[in-house]
Amino acid sequence: MATNGTAPNGANGAAAPKINGDAYPIIDHSFDVIIVGAGGAGLRATVGCSEAGLRTACITKVFPTRSHTVAAQGGVAASLGNMGEDKWQWHMYDTVKGSDWLGDQDAIEYLVRNAPAAVYELEHWGVPFSRTDDGRIYQRPFGGMTTNFGNGPAAQRTCAAADRTGHAMLHTLYGQAVRHQTNFFIEYFALDLIMDEEGRCRGVVAMDMATGQIHRFRAAMTILATGGYGRAYFSATSAHTCTGDGNAMVLRAGLPLQDMEFVQFHPTGIYGAGCLITEGARGEGGYLTNGEGERFMERYAPSAKDLASRDVVSRSMTMEIRAGRGVGKDKDHIFLHLDHLDPKILHERLPGISESAKIFAGVDVTKEPIPVLPTVHYNMGGIQTNYHGEVVTLKGGNPDQIVPGLMALGEAACVSVHGANRLGSNSLIDLVVFGRAAGLRCAEIVEKGARLPELPKDSADLALSRLDKARYANGGTPTAVLRDQMQRTMQNNCAVFRTGEVLEEGRKLIGDVWRGKEDIGVTDRSLVWNSDLIETLEFDNLIVQAVVTMNSAANRTESRGAHAREDFPDRDDQEWMKHTLAWVDEDKHEVNIDYRPVHTYTMSNDIAYIEPKARVY
Ligand SMILES: Cc1cc2nc3c(=O)[nH]c(=O)nc-3n(C[C@H](O)[C@H](O)[C@H](O)COP(=O)(O)OP(=O)(O)OC[C@H]3O[C@@H](n4cnc5c(N)ncnc54)[C@H](O)[C@@H]3O)c2cc1C
Repeated sequence: MATNGTAPNGANGAAAPKINGDAYPIIDHSFDVIIVGAGGAGLRATVGCSEAGLRTACITKVFPTRSHTVAAQGGVAASLGNMGEDKWQWHMYDTVKGSDWLGDQDAIEYLVRNAPAAVYELEHWGVPFSRTDDGRIYQRPFGGMTTNFGNGPAAQRTCAAADRTGHAMLHTLYGQAVRHQTNFFIEYFALDLIMDEEGRCRGVVAMDMATGQIHRFRAAMTILATGGYGRAYFSATSAHTCTGDGNAMVLRAGLPLQDMEFVQFHPTGIYGAGCLITEGARGEGGYLTNGEGERFMERYAPSAKDLASRDVVSRSMTMEIRAGRGVGKDKDHIFLHLDHLDPKILHERLPGISESAKIFAGVDVTKEPIPVLPTVHYNMGGIQTNYHGEVVTLKGGNPDQIVPGLMALGEAACVSVHGANRLGSNSLIDLVVFGRAAGLRCAEIVEKGARLPELPKDSADLALSRLDKARYANGGTPTAVLRDQMQRTMQNNCAVFRTGEVLEEGRKLIGDVWRGKEDIGVTDRSLVWNSDLIETLEFDNLIVQAVVTMNSAANRTESRGAHAREDFPDRDDQEWMKHTLAWVDEDKHEVNIDYRPVHTYTMSNDIAYIEPKARVY
């Protein structure tokens, strides 16, 4: 049985630090592994660690099956070859090219080689994949997925459960986690990591949102699988809970985030609402038109057309709109056509997006086109890790120094397999391949049931003083006002196209919002379901990531993947084939930047390093 909020180990009601005259009694727990996050990445790691016999707990701020992974539509990439010849080497080539040569090639090899086994594992656990006529897993074409090292036709590589693949995966993974008697702490909000003086992570402090009770989790390994931070932007396909809390905890722990300038815009968010229409819609034959009814992608990407990678399609759409060839009254969006497709296929393969189009755009997809616009969708940047999921940092000249006791997975992490641009359906596979890798690594390096050293006396201080400061914040600016300023600044100044001038202005504006935090006001002081307080903590997490994103973007003077600089239109491999690392100094309101080399070597000798090529689509 999964438990919720039990305290199997450690003393209850320990030290009650007094801040602001209030006491925060602490309940202590001790586990071998703590996983923060119950999306696809967190749950896959949870299953692996529990299966290995490690005392495992999973903390999540939303009920596991409400994590954003549930919204993933199109599918999960693996070279099964069910619908035509396919090879992991081809998947690797596409992923390296898609990453615009910023991806680490050892990690990419690990991803694509392990992808088929990870999908079969999901199938055996019960994911109800759509099927081919002869009963195999159905696979659809997706952007940037080709055959024969880009020389063959589009690959049908994306395994799908209709257009609800994430839903099917997440429910199955949750079932597996429950089967392995994982301890779940559901609707607990993780506040901060516990780091010791040697730089080892010793656990995490969390708050039970229903009661306000503080819980301190001590663990040999802490795994952050807290998802992306799409909500730093005004219009995003991601859930309101995607606030990158783990990324911000890492920044507060004095560690850097990697490649934060790379933010993916999905070409087809529903105009006005931001909800996603999966790339699978174009995979099934959908196409885009401009105000003149032209299939303009044929001009920008003569060979891949509507299935060029997302950065290319988003930029092309933006250019059409800028040239006055948008659709609608204000000519400010584009049409996606599915109305030429067989309604039976739409019903079978794309039922979810047909419903979303009806609800959010009032459109019957069998008869009319869907109004769409590029919308923030995915964060390529995040916590730097190696392909075992272990967090690494630049220390003493070593760019891959392991941070002991800490791992990161999923969208929160930057392994980096997606480099400057993620290919569609490569995230879901990233979650399960590296979630599994983390479980294997923990089984190897974490001693089962070992007695953990006592925590330093002040181990909860950082978390509690931050919580207390937010709770009693009595400035004049409501959190919602600052959040709105942040989201609009990011949307306007760090968008699909960027210039030095616009980014410099953005740096100033986002810096003002950051400093504006000092005047924040929270009205509800209670600890029971205090959404004002939680939203303030989430804003506090978002703003540092927004600042880092803007600064990293202003710093990178080239165009690569999703980072398109109009003033530096070319990719500059000489100067910029390197990862950005960014640290924040909250007191001085400063961002400090350094670099880490791209891994230009593969994991094995089975495939040679893939040399950079010019961009041709
Ligand atoms: C609409 C949409 C469609 C997509 N479709 C596809 C697709 O078809 N194919 C594909 O490959 N990718 C797709 N993606 C991308 C992919 O779904 C995500 O990148 C991926 O699901 C992220 O998974 P995750 O496990 O890293 O995090 P999430 O699923 O976002 O889960 C994060 C978890 O962390 C927990 N958490 C966060 N902060 C805290 C905190 N402070 N305390 C406690 N818990 C916390 C949350 O409760 C949650 O359980 C899509 C994304 C979106 C938004």
